[in-house]
Amino acid sequence: MELRLYDTKSREIQTVHETNHKVRMYCCGPTVYRDAHVGNMRTFLLSDLIRRTLTVLGYQVSIVQNITDVGHMSEDFEAEDKLLAQSKTEHIDPLAVARKYEEHFHTDLALLNILPADKYPKASECIPLMQDLIAKLIAKGNAYVGSDGSVYFDASSFPGYGMISGNRLDALKPGHRFEYTDEGGKKFHADWALWKAAGHRTEMIWDSPWGPGFPGWHIECSAMSIQFLDGHVDIHVGGIDLRFPHHENERAQSNAVTGNETVDLWVHGEHLLFQGRKMSKSAGNVVLIRDVVEHGYDPLALRLVFLENRYRSQMDLNWETIAAADETLKRWRKLVNQVMHAIPSENVKITQAICEDLDTPRAIQIIRSLEKDHDLEIETKVGHLLFADQILGLDLSRKEQVRELTPELETILKSRKKARDEKNWAESDRLRQLLEDQGLIIRDSSDRQDWQWR
Ligand code: AMP
Ligand code: ZN
Repeated sequence: MELRLYDTKSREIQTVHETNHKVRMYCCGPTVYRDAHVGNMRTFLLSDLIRRTLTVLGYQVSIVQNITDVGHMSEDFEAEDKLLAQSKTEHIDPLAVARKYEEHFHTDLALLNILPADKYPKASECIPLMQDLIAKLIAKGNAYVGSDGSVYFDASSFPGYGMISGNRLDALKPGHRFEYTDEGGKKFHADWALWKAAGHRTEMIWDSPWGPGFPGWHIECSAMSIQFLDGHVDIHVGGIDLRFPHHENERAQSNAVTGNETVDLWVHGEHLLFQGRKMSKSAGNVVLIRDVVEHGYDPLALRLVFLENRYRSQMDLNWETIAAADETLKRWRKLVNQVMHAIPSENVKITQAICEDLDTPRAIQIIRSLEKDHDLEIETKVGHLLFADQILGLDLSRKEQVRELTPELETILKSRKKARDEKNWAESDRLRQLLEDQGLIIRDSSDRQDWQWR
């Protein structure tokens, strides 16, 4: 069986091929100036799904995911490095900001059962690599030093520009406002900075053959993918918003320097919406993995919700769907735990669904119908669940954890029982609220009070 994926550049579903017995994947990673929200996590899950599917199909997979800790500018009027802006807000060194959120990122990945990449190169530690690439681009005539001392990629030197996004050069209008203020030294509005002259900036700058400065954001992904994946990427993954300009520019840089089509397949995940709007810091509708946990849900319930929606469709998240998925997970785990030994069985339908451009909703449907099939032995059902879980990563063999009551909660429960016995309803209601706020559900009958975790 082969994995087929939708490739944004050719606008077709294409078969994934290995090169030198390995599938090499590059996934655009987080900009570590804040916690990744669950929308970002949906995109990171996409590469995990592809990787797990390929592994089940017997391929060797190598994944690189970058950590952006310099050069990603905000798109405000006063374009500023996102890390430097956050460093001012938190009153700590910009690289301390980066390391803090990088650590959170890894914790969140683990909570979603996303397997770690082979390498997480940091932009700030790959400056010589980027400078080397920029020097090569200048030597090849694809880049030039602008009138402001910054180095720009000459967009018109790359004939295939626009194939990923459909934004051809002749149709491109001067776009973002910051191109005029921050990038005033370029010859053509579609050119972009590879190396930005430091100007008034004093932090996070490095020496270079073109004077002190810092790298642009797009050059980081070309430099790292070429270096750490030996010059070729079989599958490049990112969120749909990265199609343009990030991936368009990366393709131009990488192809110009390698002299060939550096990336085989460009795979983009659609956006996660929350309450009808794209989840983003600027929209103010961010949900973090931490919030999911604080609501009392297993973060893997979120993974299940994502899997129920195909990666290429926008999806609108809400708390009800997470709650329902949480229930489903509990039910499936119970089933799996009744019969823990896996059995060899026919799992072809599930694999076929996933191999056809990651049709995870179809795979989940198949599992749901297996679950309901009265003619199937429980062992057979569990075999299918465990098999599918190698890709779905829902940790279905995990035992339901028994959460102990804290001494504080036990005391409140006792006090509430006493208040009820004494018919002190106001106090009993107050204590009930207190217990509910901490995740307990209380059920009263005439002679007792029962509780359970939400
Ligand atoms: P950033 O940390 O902003 O560089 O983004 C990391 C990844 O998350 C990129 O691949 C983005 O395309 C992706 N992304 C950003 N917002 C969303 C969203 N609402 N839904 C899905 N992916 C997103
Ligand atoms: Zn990237």
